[in-house]
Amino acid sequence: MNFKMNIKQRLQQLKSVLPKHVTLVAVSKTKPVDDLMEAYHAGQRIFGENKIQEMAEKYQQMPKDIQWHMIGHVQTNKVKYMAPFVDLIHGVDRLKLLNEINKQAQKHSRCIDCLLQIKIAEEDSKFGMTTNDAENLLKSSAFKDLKNIKIVGVMGMASFTNDTDQIRTEFNTLKSTFDLLKNTEQQMHIVSMGMSGDYPLAIDCGSTMIRVGSHIFGARNYS
Ligand SMILES: *Cc1c(COP(=O)(O)O)cnc(C)c1O
Repeated sequence: MNFKMNIKQRLQQLKSVLPKHVTLVAVSKTKPVDDLMEAYHAGQRIFGENKIQEMAEKYQQMPKDIQWHMIGHVQTNKVKYMAPFVDLIHGVDRLKLLNEINKQAQKHSRCIDCLLQIKIAEEDSKFGMTTNDAENLLKSSAFKDLKNIKIVGVMGMASFTNDTDQIRTEFNTLKSTFDLLKNTEQQMHIVSMGMSGDYPLAIDCGSTMIRVGSHIFGARNYS
């Protein structure tokens, strides 16, 4: 990243190279509201957070035309805190979680869009379903009963490696999973893949939504 540029300039530079069909989620986890507002004033309206409580606090403080995406692993008992406002949940990886999202969405008379997280990385640490599990879930009657959620696509995270061939293979796997699942769920249109380090490759492999944090906001400090 270019340290001489500010958030607005980095955002504008990134947007100027994105194809029209690719949506940018500005990943703002750990960053202060002032930084998010700088991106907001530069026109950014979609923000991604990975902790529900942090997202809910920022939602309270910020303009209401922002679309909030939950990109992290979701604990079932915390769904209620984001159900009133969340725009898209990226990390859905089990029926039990979908049941809870459906229940909480119903309470607010909403339909919440979700992505199925598919495990594409070789590493064990990454969450996600297999293609097979995802297909079975979409075909199950338990799933068809859920009227307050909509599966609009898939999400995946590639391995943390410099091996671009491996990353390409993993992104290609997610795209083929998307193509396959779309036969069952025709309204699917989102392939969420690509982060600061690999978004050009992800776009090459068919990504329609990238989740970029440090490239816009700078490195995160977790201390
Ligand atoms: C943090 C995070 C990102 C963004 O990572 P950067 O490397 O900072 O762009 C994208 N996706 C998920 C799921 C994340 O947790």
